Amino acid sequence: MSEEDKGFDVDKLSRAIAAELKKLNESDKPPAPAVPGNMEKEPKPTWNCPECGEKLKGGEKYCPGCGVELEWAE
Ligand SMILES: [Zn+2]
Repeated sequence: MSEEDKGFDVDKLSRAIAAELKKLNESDKPPAPAVPGNMEKEPKPTWNCPECGEKLKGGEKYCPGCGVELEWAE
């Protein structure tokens, strides 16, 4: 008995797998960002204090402007 008798072509199989992987990679490309003109690397949303309008980064317990307690919905 030899390996060839099994009819198992490793080379053909590995080439088929490589072709499939290539197809997957090509179809897996994420679409280009649909926000042209957005030059910000990391767009950070900002909020404003409901009391005084102070700009907030988010997550502050108290407003740095007026000290009102802030509630953040996760
Ligand atoms: Zn405030």
